[in-house]
Amino acid sequence: VIEIGQPEHSVVTTCAYCGVGCAFKAEMRGEEVVRMVPYKDGKANRGHSCVKGRFAWGYATHKERILKPMIRSKITDPWKEVSWEEAIAYTASEFKRIQAKHGKASIGGITSSRCTNEETYLVQKLIRGGFGNNNVDTCARVCHSPTGYGLGQTFGTSAGTQDFDSVEDSDVIVVIGANPTDGHPVFGSRMKKRLREGARLIVIDPRKTDIVRTPHVEADYHLPLLPGTNVAILTAMAHVIVTEGLVAEDYVRERCDWDEFQNWAAFVADPRHSPEAVEQYTGVPAELVRGAARLYATGGNGAIYYGLGVTEHSQGSTTVMAIANLAMATGNIGRRGVGVNPLRGQNNVQGSCDMGSFPHELPGYRHIAGDEVRHAFEELWGVQLDKEPGLRIPNMLDAAVEGSFLGLYVQGEDIVQSDPDTKHVTAGLAAMECVVVQDLFLNETANYAHVFLPGSSFLEKDGTFTNAERRIQRVRKVMSPKAGYADWEITLLIAEAMGFPMPYEHPSQIMDEIARLTPSFAGVSYEKLERDGSVQWPCNDKAPEGTPIMHIDHFVRGKGRFMVTEYVPTDERTGARFPLLLTTGRILSQYNVGAQTRRTENSLWHEEDVLEIHPHDAEQRGVREGDWVRLESRSGSTSLRATITDRVAPGVVYTTFHHPSTQANVITTDYSDWATNCPEYKVTAVQVMPSNGP
Ligand code: SF4
Repeated sequence: VIEIGQPEHSVVTTCAYCGVGCAFKAEMRGEEVVRMVPYKDGKANRGHSCVKGRFAWGYATHKERILKPMIRSKITDPWKEVSWEEAIAYTASEFKRIQAKHGKASIGGITSSRCTNEETYLVQKLIRGGFGNNNVDTCARVCHSPTGYGLGQTFGTSAGTQDFDSVEDSDVIVVIGANPTDGHPVFGSRMKKRLREGARLIVIDPRKTDIVRTPHVEADYHLPLLPGTNVAILTAMAHVIVTEGLVAEDYVRERCDWDEFQNWAAFVADPRHSPEAVEQYTGVPAELVRGAARLYATGGNGAIYYGLGVTEHSQGSTTVMAIANLAMATGNIGRRGVGVNPLRGQNNVQGSCDMGSFPHELPGYRHIAGDEVRHAFEELWGVQLDKEPGLRIPNMLDAAVEGSFLGLYVQGEDIVQSDPDTKHVTAGLAAMECVVVQDLFLNETANYAHVFLPGSSFLEKDGTFTNAERRIQRVRKVMSPKAGYADWEITLLIAEAMGFPMPYEHPSQIMDEIARLTPSFAGVSYEKLERDGSVQWPCNDKAPEGTPIMHIDHFVRGKGRFMVTEYVPTDERTGARFPLLLTTGRILSQYNVGAQTRRTENSLWHEEDVLEIHPHDAEQRGVREGDWVRLESRSGSTSLRATITDRVAPGVVYTTFHHPSTQANVITTDYSDWATNCPEYKVTAVQVMPSNGP
């Protein structure tokens, strides 16, 4: 029996792990969390939760948290604890010195999808207004940036089209490159409930994920494609729909650009896109593709849910557009039960993108070059803005190696662990003169930092997160910031020291400014969130109660736009030396690189990442269950234990990436999405061989 004591009061807040956005009651005794109880009125979770949100909050009080600011002039020097005043003054003087010598564009920053909307907004405001450039990017660069591009091109805005409730009216559910059981557990359960009620299921994934064979649910079609061939499969499905006369023509004529549709239809009808023609290189039998296409087009309300198995490819943006094409061609956009829904990974990745974290976009996905929009920001911020888009993260690192980018402010990110091509990331960081890391722990990126500013956990701040269904929810402070300041306050200190003061006293004032400058947030305020619990953007005069379903009467861009999606094989190829394809994913109890969950009791559920390998490939290599193996790619190598399973097809291996010792990004390549630079994490040619351990 564990004595946990009785709570004295409780505060409703939002989980800081995944994009489902479960609401919790933090039950408190003074400033100590007694337990987190799933909140029954939470509109995204209705009283449910998973093991991360329920149990994995102890990292907030973990002994390894850094609670004092630290500086050092060289990354080989030991850290020196200093006062907040000294750390902020040092940061500002270094950034100013670099800019005086190398120009305004020589510094920049990275926002965090773990932080609140208000904190993200402030970082991009500091960079655009205080640094005087648009060198701001976000960790969404490495996950859902192709969603932004693909859905922007086809529908006119970067967001899932549905609320979670919509799945209750779905007749056919298509899951592409996502593992909702592990990645988005609470929504995954709702999806499975609908499947148990009789909805049909199509899974497009190289691996037999849990949902393919969940109890009482059997996928009607599992298309186990070879990693990297999403576009070929989706175009082959479109081929079937067009050539077999399954297009929802009335819908397309009314809602979409008809000329673009005809152009697209002629393209997909070409015999080279038929399921039979692509079978050899996708590895999926043609009859499965034909059956899946017919079911999606004729089975009633068809809803598509997708994850990083779609976006983290050299054709990530093309794949998103191919998905949007299928939905428009079958009339599956604009009502309950249908739609295109990116399952967002991080708690606030939707919000960090909404808040202007990309180098070419102001909040609300408006291009920085648009004079009218930019002038509105200039007027309110009292500063002239650069209208040239800034650098993306990979370009910042390139410029650092070349010597023209020398200062970086990183709010709540660990780019050394999470970004591709670790050698390039560390070379870029090592070449900079002032790297400022604001985080809870001394992460891998902090090894290259000159200033460490101790950040705050979600329990120590007020603000809002926006989940995968565009739902804006309150984050409420339940304890004082352990290091003295919440993240938003730290950004204000830097801004003031840089000579660009931003006088807010509470995050609600920041949200008021966001609402003033961002049409899709115009009706959002803390008062409204207190009253209604949450609201889904767009929320404005046209939709004062928010927008659960988007594109009902017309697409945000007017007419839906079909895009031609030519399949271009990735440059990452298998061959005699690297004959297998590695792809990656998550497990339920851990989160991303594990910086938080590994510092909680959830680590007991998962001690190491393992390599899944098919029995045929294991036997060929003399690998037995539990053996150590060496995993080697053209980029690098690592060691981990093997587990032998037919969840993966012959020729494909799979691992998770939660433990730093796995160093999965030492293995991955530097190929990336052609439109957004999102790294191709999901396709790496590798060899596997027995080893004696790390
Ligand atoms: Fe909900 Fe996701 Fe948090 Fe789990 S990790 S409790 S599903 S928001």
